[in-house]
Amino acid sequence: MFESDARRALATAVQPAATAFEDEEPPSQPRRHPQWKDVPHEQWDDWRWQTHNAVRSVRQLRHLLSFTPAELEALGRLEGEYKLAIPPYYFSLIDPRDPNDPIRLQSVPSPLEAENPSGYELDDPLEEDKDSPVPGLTHRYPDRALLITTPNCSMYCRYCTRKRATLTRGGWEGVSADDERMIDYVRSHREIRDVIVSGGDPLTLPVSKLRFYLENLKAIDHVDVIRIGTRVPVTLPQRLYDPELIELLASAEKVYIQTHFNHPREVTPEAVRVCKALLRAGMPINNHSVLLKGVNDDLGTMRSLLRGLLRAKVRPYYLFHCDPVTGAGHFRTSVWKGLEIMEGLRGHMSGIGIPTYVVDSPHGGGKIPMMPNYLVSMSDDAVVLRNYEGLLIRYQAEDKPAANGQPTNTRGVSGLLQGDKTVLIPEQNERMARRKPRVVRDGCGGDSDASDLGGEGNTDGGALRPIIPLPMLNGNGHANGNGNSNGNGHGHGQAASNG
Ligand SMILES: *Cc1c(COP(=O)(O)O)cnc(C)c1O
Ligand code: SF4
Repeated sequence: MFESDARRALATAVQPAATAFEDEEPPSQPRRHPQWKDVPHEQWDDWRWQTHNAVRSVRQLRHLLSFTPAELEALGRLEGEYKLAIPPYYFSLIDPRDPNDPIRLQSVPSPLEAENPSGYELDDPLEEDKDSPVPGLTHRYPDRALLITTPNCSMYCRYCTRKRATLTRGGWEGVSADDERMIDYVRSHREIRDVIVSGGDPLTLPVSKLRFYLENLKAIDHVDVIRIGTRVPVTLPQRLYDPELIELLASAEKVYIQTHFNHPREVTPEAVRVCKALLRAGMPINNHSVLLKGVNDDLGTMRSLLRGLLRAKVRPYYLFHCDPVTGAGHFRTSVWKGLEIMEGLRGHMSGIGIPTYVVDSPHGGGKIPMMPNYLVSMSDDAVVLRNYEGLLIRYQAEDKPAANGQPTNTRGVSGLLQGDKTVLIPEQNERMARRKPRVVRDGCGGDSDASDLGGEGNTDGGALRPIIPLPMLNGNGHANGNGNSNGNGHGHGQAASNG
């Protein structure tokens, strides 16, 4: 068994990857699309050069990636709708051979943006404009305000919630012209303790404008936190190679950075470098990701992203379900997919690497957390919880005598609620096997005491029945609540099979 496992692992390891970028662990290598291979380092590392040379038209795109004629025609039409900009640095993260490349999907327009088959997608799905007492400022939660300071970004994400602000024509008018009024609003609302400076991307603002926001917000006593929401560390890290910009942000003292990494390949050495610089300057970094179909909607990619962020000391904060915004319908996946991913995180990897999965709700209802169910059942005396391993556990939250001290001869989850048992353990539990090296190995069970399987919490030998493996739920008559744990061959066979 072990041997064949090992052989299989080896076979997987030597299989050539479908693309050079597959399954890579961050931080990945610096990359350059051949188009820019001769650009000197000083230019490549200069954010002005990166901005100046950003890919901004379909005419440029067609020389860099392959498209069908029909795609090009559709993209030509879209060009008149939404802004397009991809700095050479970010563009170089794309694998040009892969039409479904996750970096490409985020940044290069797709004909699907013209479709809205359900009619459910809206320009302002979160109704931010309706919760706007002053143009550009959204006051939705009691103690927080969001400022939209600019319609500009270094790269325009194709799924952006604020696509209404990044239209080519018309765009968003309530942006930034009213910055004095936004500050006045914050100043006169003492309940606002946390101001999110967003956009667009505030790190695309002229330095004088950014300083205006930072100095004013710093001076307001009731503001404890200034959050800078920016994708610049991801899409144009060169901007933050500038120590003066870092110094300006740090000088506001209350600044937290909120970044937006979506894919492990974005956690490059360049991005890590600027995250470290921000951290050294005393600014904590939280990340939000958007759950995007084809980009990061699978457990392996998500884990790899989260581990990459931990290595960069960036704390994963939110995983957003993709908002129903016009032109982004093709990025949206099911809530089940999000829950499936969350199920694979909690308990399985570092808790400090696990974001909260949220749906930002219509009608301006705000962020609503989504989680797999861990609360299975409940009574006056206890709750039944399940852990990431599938253990079902009786948990008494309060110190009081059980209402019913007598065994009730009931099974399963009900047995846990009644206090007849304290836990149900699924077969093949590696942790239990690890606890108990001395299990008799006789193939199909035997006669060791069930306490050999761990003996947790059942030491009284009274009404509480020791560990009952899940197969007992099938009503095979053993779960009779007599407190006798001996001779239960099931537990043992399973532990042996792990050995
Ligand atoms: C997300 C958001 C906030 C901040 O919410 P937190 O849960 O504190 O991160 C504040 N205002 C608006 C309008 C938001 O969308
Ligand atoms: S950086 Fe943020 S605001 Fe700008 S396009 Fe991307 S998601 Fe939208």
